[in-house]
Amino acid sequence: MAEQRNPLDVLNRVFGYDAFRGPQQEIIEHVVDGGDALVLMPTGGGKSLCYQIPALVREGVGVVISPLIALMQDQVDALRALGVRAGFLNSTQDLEERRLVEAEFLAGEIDLLYLAPERLRVESTLRLLDRGTVSLFAIDEAHCVAQWGHDFRPDYLMLSELHERWPHVPRIALTATATEATHAEIASRLKLQDARHFVASFDRPNIQYRIVPKGEPKKQLLKLLRTEHEGDAGIVYCLSRASVEKTAEWLSQQGVPAVPYHAKLDPAVRAENQARFLREDGLVVVATIAFGMGIDKPDVRFVAHLDLPKSIEGYYQETGRAGRDGLPSTAWLAYGLQDVVQQRKLIDTGLGDDAHRRRLTAHLDAMLALCETVECRRVRLLAYFGEESGPCGNCDTCLTPPETWDGTVAAQKALSTVVRLKRERGQKFGAGQIIDILLGRKTAKVIQFDHDALKVFGIGTELGEAQWRSVVRQLVALGLLAVEGEYGTLVLTEASAEVLGGRREVALRRDPRPAATAKAPARA
Ligand code: ADP
Ligand code: ZN
Repeated sequence: MAEQRNPLDVLNRVFGYDAFRGPQQEIIEHVVDGGDALVLMPTGGGKSLCYQIPALVREGVGVVISPLIALMQDQVDALRALGVRAGFLNSTQDLEERRLVEAEFLAGEIDLLYLAPERLRVESTLRLLDRGTVSLFAIDEAHCVAQWGHDFRPDYLMLSELHERWPHVPRIALTATATEATHAEIASRLKLQDARHFVASFDRPNIQYRIVPKGEPKKQLLKLLRTEHEGDAGIVYCLSRASVEKTAEWLSQQGVPAVPYHAKLDPAVRAENQARFLREDGLVVVATIAFGMGIDKPDVRFVAHLDLPKSIEGYYQETGRAGRDGLPSTAWLAYGLQDVVQQRKLIDTGLGDDAHRRRLTAHLDAMLALCETVECRRVRLLAYFGEESGPCGNCDTCLTPPETWDGTVAAQKALSTVVRLKRERGQKFGAGQIIDILLGRKTAKVIQFDHDALKVFGIGTELGEAQWRSVVRQLVALGLLAVEGEYGTLVLTEASAEVLGGRREVALRRDPRPAATAKAPARA
């Protein structure tokens, strides 16, 4: 339709929005003119319109490569509801359904065709595309091409061939994952070196970031929900499938409507839980990170992490699912030393070569530094994505600036204990034993190893157990202690000597008081 050939017109008439957001207009004009683009925009930033509008404006059918097979039907239905002619091809369809969509594509009766990446492995799909008119290729979730990223999909590697086979069709790759390294890998693997790069601000000002020490995480979570998010929809991320199920069940027992979501759940149940989350108000999904990519629910009011995420990239993507409607939302994370031990173990026993392990360790260290920072969380987050900013006034450290204290002596005591154990017996122990020794506790394990005879036995009684745990956790985050191996052994680092030798002072963050156990609200 001629009157729809202008991007702004399409935005108004088809999508019902008044104005473009951020760099949308520039991106759309560039692609409409036939240029290649690499788009980095946070979750909820509005990436879809960047290819949907050019597909409606340009001659031919826009082909969208997306790994989100489970969502294709929803996406296409949503477009059809707006009057946009769209279809999809993936493995969930039978032959007849596929034939129908193929015929629509060839006849130019659709403007958008969603395609699962593995379809491109099939020669008949390639021939199909040859016979029709493709207006553009959109590569959604483009970070899936990054080999060491958190969502790698082998089928994405073939997408480099699109350009060779159809050199004149513009390509637009989109992702919400934005560190320099991923960015560069996407450009090189997809042969998009000559594409224009569009980077939207990654700031999500309506999201309040909060990171708290982990005590009893489920109870801490329940308190948050009852005091601030009663009746709100939200996502709770857990590391393991077992804790997903336990937490969902426990929340339900406490009267919070909650359903589980993880990869091993019965597919029908999983689909139903996802559909309920999208459809109902105030449902909480407790999930592994398998949940969330491509889910567009505008009123997710909180995202809570009960375990430490593996990287800032993952954390930011997951928290970005809160508050797409722009209204105030909470990103809440509880973490403790045990998380670090667990993650280290996963890295040490996981697949991959040493370079891969080093990369995972660097990701974990950056995440830890974010947790222990006394600066604005947002400044730290945005700096990670290469953006400079000032204190935000809407994160926990801005709202209640953490007190610091001189932890030099405490650090020396903890490090000396680690040294003793190593020097005297060559033994290695985790945080629990170190703290028992500092506190002078004659536990069975202390007696068994004669640790009550050590000079350091009982030298740390000025602090309590929780404070010592905080000290050890921060020493790890500061790189003054390292966690190793399956049992979370604490070992010295190169920097430890400076503290032990009195050449370095250690400022530590005072943990907020542990959250009191949640009280049940008075019921009417
Ligand atoms: P992303 O894919 O970047 O996570 P979406 O494309 O799903 O984000 O867009 C997020 C939300 O913002 C959607 O509900 C979308 O309709 C809305 N949106 C996108 N662009 C605009 C705009 N220019 N004006 C108003 N709303 C918009
Ligand atoms: Zn802040």
